Amino acid sequence: MNIILLGAPGSGKGTLAKKLVAAKKLAHISTGDLLRAAVKTGTILGKKAKDFMDSGKLVPDSLIIDLMAERLQKPDCQNGFILDGFPRTVLQAESLQELLKKNKKDIDVVIHLEIGIEIVIERMAGRISCSKCGAVYHKKNMPPQKENVCDTCGHELYQRDDDKEETVRNRFNVYLEQTAPLIAFYQKSGKASTIDGSIDPEATLAKALAALKSS
Ligand code: AMP
Repeated sequence: MNIILLGAPGSGKGTLAKKLVAAKKLAHISTGDLLRAAVKTGTILGKKAKDFMDSGKLVPDSLIIDLMAERLQKPDCQNGFILDGFPRTVLQAESLQELLKKNKKDIDVVIHLEIGIEIVIERMAGRISCSKCGAVYHKKNMPPQKENVCDTCGHELYQRDDDKEETVRNRFNVYLEQTAPLIAFYQKSGKASTIDGSIDPEATLAKALAALKSS
């Protein structure tokens, strides 16, 4: 099964993706994680992407499409995948369709997590991440056992530059302008299911699993 998670930054795509991956044994492909890894290791892609990411803008389509064309060829995608943070523009969605068609594949379900800006600000201002293992915490709602230390690997936690309030507002506007039109794009093919992204993660998972079942 091939799934797209669509939603504003902070709508819970990453959390839902991790839960679905555990439940369904699918490959989890997060373009944000791939780009952050490229920035960290200093690849050409990382160098080109960094300034766009830090200011909350989208990385140019051509870079993302090349990245995904390569990633979707990997063997772990054969049994299905969850796309978390891709596509984010209509051009990316069209390119994805072409890529999948060439490989005789298709998207089965698009889960749209709906959320308002104020909840996003509250969630992301408190979000702290581990730069080593990628675990994500929230200062108030899901704190680590020891302040600023990752429960999983003991590494120091940090706030992503693009999780600061001004950048979050900017990213939300970018989402409304460039990514939200994809909801209608996928509704046309009858594949989109909208879920309230403000409810707790277990309830979101239950609704997502119900949407997958009825697809
Ligand atoms: P995320 O972790 O998904 O919120 O992504 C973090 C940042 O990476 C975004 O704010 C963009 O700058 C960049 N990014 C991630 N995915 C994409 C995409 N599909 N298209 C363009 N830029 C992206």
